[in-house]
Amino acid sequence: MPNVAFINGAFVPLADAKVSIEDRGFQFGDGVYEVIRTYKGCPFSIEAHLARLDRSAAALDLTQPYSRAEWTGHILEGVKRAAYPEAKIYLQITRGVAPRDHAYSDDATPTVVMTVREFHPLDRSVQATGVEAMTTEDIRWGRCDIKSVNLLANVLARQQVKQARVFEAILVNSGLVTEGAVSNVMVVQGGTVVTAPEGPRILSGVTRAIVLDLALSEGVSTQERFVSQSDLYTADEVFLTGTTVEVLAVIRVDGKVIGDGRPGPITQRLAASFASRVG
Ligand code: PLP
Repeated sequence: MPNVAFINGAFVPLADAKVSIEDRGFQFGDGVYEVIRTYKGCPFSIEAHLARLDRSAAALDLTQPYSRAEWTGHILEGVKRAAYPEAKIYLQITRGVAPRDHAYSDDATPTVVMTVREFHPLDRSVQATGVEAMTTEDIRWGRCDIKSVNLLANVLARQQVKQARVFEAILVNSGLVTEGAVSNVMVVQGGTVVTAPEGPRILSGVTRAIVLDLALSEGVSTQERFVSQSDLYTADEVFLTGTTVEVLAVIRVDGKVIGDGRPGPITQRLAASFASRVG
């Protein structure tokens, strides 16, 4: 089964999908992206992802080349062509090709790229045992709500993760937990799920919103506020949410054991209700 590439309106073999060196995505990271996964061949929460793509593009004054209906058509076609049991769909819009100048012109034609690749979900045993995380300073810019292709701080954080042989980096800004390098972070304190508020400090995760809704329908209270790094260590439970990680327990942070070192009861409940939602 092929990895599918789509560039400026045409499906092409991945090896033939080429972009100019003058593309502003390459020159400046001047672009936005989305990652969507499929469950049983069906893109999950496509509307919410496309809505966030619209918001990201608008925040950068970037022309959104396709309507949501057109994007949906291209995505479904890509998924059909790739025919993977589970696929990861990557969408990217950059401001397009122009002679290098920081300021942009209003008539730039965006470059639009999509790839559809096989997705390998996390091993069930990892879900069952939970994962280890580390904290690192959140050195990102002041608009983390924009899903921009400028990911240098996340790249450096994920490299630290790789070197430390843990699963995720939890980012800390002035002593407060913002989110993970590729996920949102939630903690459980006295039966309440607490997570950083929407705003410029975090990416408003599609999974985050679903999990907060699921918590409410499960009768679990939620609060959207920042928690400190020390509150993170002493939380009853910590978990990550995200398109690729779903709901994933964190059992150790910086070597400190969270709770009793096993996925906690609220994390397990939310993981189970998320699994039945996607199923
Ligand atoms: N936060 C960051 C920095 C991310 O990169 C991601 C996912 O890529 C998330 C949160 C989770 O967002 P979502 O649930 O929409 O995948």
